[in-house]
Amino acid sequence: MPSANLDAVIIGGGHNGLVCGFYLARAGLNVRVLERRGVVGGAAVTEEFFPGFRNSTASYTVSLLNPKVIADMRLHERGLSIVERPIANFLPQPAGGYLKVGGGLERTQAEFRKVSAHDAAALPAYYAALEAVADVLRELALKTPPNAGGGPRALLALAAQGRGLARRPIATQRDVLDLFAKSARAFLDGWFESEAVKAAFGFDAVVGAYASPDAPGSAYVLLHHVFGEVNGKKGAWGHAIGGMGAITQAMAEACEEAGVAISLDAPVAEVLTEADAAVGVRLESGETVMAARVVANVGPRILYERLIDPAALPDDFRRRMRGYRTGSGTFRMNVALCELPDFTCLPGKDPAEHHMSGVIIAPTLDYMDRAFSDARQFGWSKAPIVEMLIPSTVDDSLAPPGAHVASLFCQQFAPVLPDGRSWDDEREAAADLIVETVTAHAPNFRASILGRMILSPLDLERRFGLAGGDIFHGALSLDQLWAARPVLGHGDYRGPLKGLYMCGAGTHPGGGVTGAPGHNAAREILADRSLLGRLLR
Ligand SMILES: Cc1cc2nc3c(=O)[nH]c(=O)nc-3n(C[C@H](O)[C@H](O)[C@H](O)COP(=O)(O)OP(=O)(O)OC[C@H]3O[C@@H](n4cnc5c(N)ncnc54)[C@H](O)[C@@H]3O)c2cc1C
Repeated sequence: MPSANLDAVIIGGGHNGLVCGFYLARAGLNVRVLERRGVVGGAAVTEEFFPGFRNSTASYTVSLLNPKVIADMRLHERGLSIVERPIANFLPQPAGGYLKVGGGLERTQAEFRKVSAHDAAALPAYYAALEAVADVLRELALKTPPNAGGGPRALLALAAQGRGLARRPIATQRDVLDLFAKSARAFLDGWFESEAVKAAFGFDAVVGAYASPDAPGSAYVLLHHVFGEVNGKKGAWGHAIGGMGAITQAMAEACEEAGVAISLDAPVAEVLTEADAAVGVRLESGETVMAARVVANVGPRILYERLIDPAALPDDFRRRMRGYRTGSGTFRMNVALCELPDFTCLPGKDPAEHHMSGVIIAPTLDYMDRAFSDARQFGWSKAPIVEMLIPSTVDDSLAPPGAHVASLFCQQFAPVLPDGRSWDDEREAAADLIVETVTAHAPNFRASILGRMILSPLDLERRFGLAGGDIFHGALSLDQLWAARPVLGHGDYRGPLKGLYMCGAGTHPGGGVTGAPGHNAAREILADRSLLGRLLR
């Protein structure tokens, strides 16, 4: 395609880049997506990581993907099938025994009764409160935040979005404040007494958040993990048959059908600017692609620190972006298994519901707090936070018959190791520790591993283009959310240069496989084309 007549060039073919490209092309724009890797999908891909074994190598579970995006891109018609797990989580306990969460309210209450009658009784009200706040988030997910310093349109958005919240019952408004401002521990202390129950819910607060569950604002990350749904079931998490790549391959098909040109192995080296406008990009190959609009699916830190000449950016903006926090403290492994883990607390190697759930090794909030402080000091903790999912128990397309693949998703691993140490030298040791941590609960685990793919924070950066290995393109903290994502004054998907837009997880509503940033960015880009849209700005 000749680049001269491009309406938009999108840097990155992650799921949000694809979603944005789809909506733009559907509205008649001439769009080209430039993806650095040989596969689209960004952090939502399925790859063979060991001969005969495939897995979602980065993100691995679905919930947040917006139903409107699914419908508009006709992802189900393109073959996307998402299955629920029988229960959500299985938590082996340090003193023996286990806790199962999910599979219906009554079942979870019965489980909680093992540790606290009070907590079992509190559960319905807790779920209802969380659900009410998650509804607020759901309502905001596809709305453009009111842009600080914006024109009448921003004021209208502020009034509408503020009124939506003000209409909620006072209890919900209080819960909103709690979840946005409190630490996960303070929030959960208000509901439960058992450390095991608090850990079962508090785990979500440290996923992708390099922070203690005692950090003010950490409760928000917990909320961020419950605003999705699977097949209409709110708050549930599921598995995409064929892995996360099934989502992004279906998205790519929708894009191509709408007329988007997708170029693979096309890393962008630089955004081209003229005066105060973005006018195109230069690829590492030397090719120049000119376009009326440049849309960045890459995270803000990569866009503003690596792809744009600093002299082209306003000084204050540049300084603030230097303070933008990335680095989620995530360590990820994919393992090929010859058999399922046989847990001491629940023996058996035949597939059972606990094998189909998220197995969580993080028994208390204190354990999680220690994992963070150890990581700050030493790089990682000898008692790491581990979640393991075995998708082959619900999807036989991923491993040979009788064999399995597991995703190990581990938190509080320093994005940058202290004392000048490098992840290149230490990834194997950290991986061994993670394997030992699981083996302590399932003695056959270490010996069952046929092959493994290790992704330290540095590997996540190199392989997936995630600054600091940040799974969300930037911390989900109050100072980097909603109208302040990535920075106040640019919370409406528009960058600081004319014709420059952002459509990735570093914009509202943040990380996760949601499609929402891509959807919203496309709407703003299209609004800027209309006279009314421009007048209202
Ligand atoms: C290990 C891990 C586990 C996760 N688990 C889950 C989960 O289970 N469920 C969930 O919902 N979310 C999960 N997430 C978060 C979620 O995957 C991301 O937030 C989401 O995929 C971000 O999508 P995106 O399209 O905005 O950006 P990305 O997926 O990061 O896409 C950006 C794209 O830009 C490309 N790119 C980078 N630099 C350049 C360049 N110079 N030129 C051209 N292209 C470039 C990249 O290759 C990439 O394809 C996880 C993420 C990780 C890393």
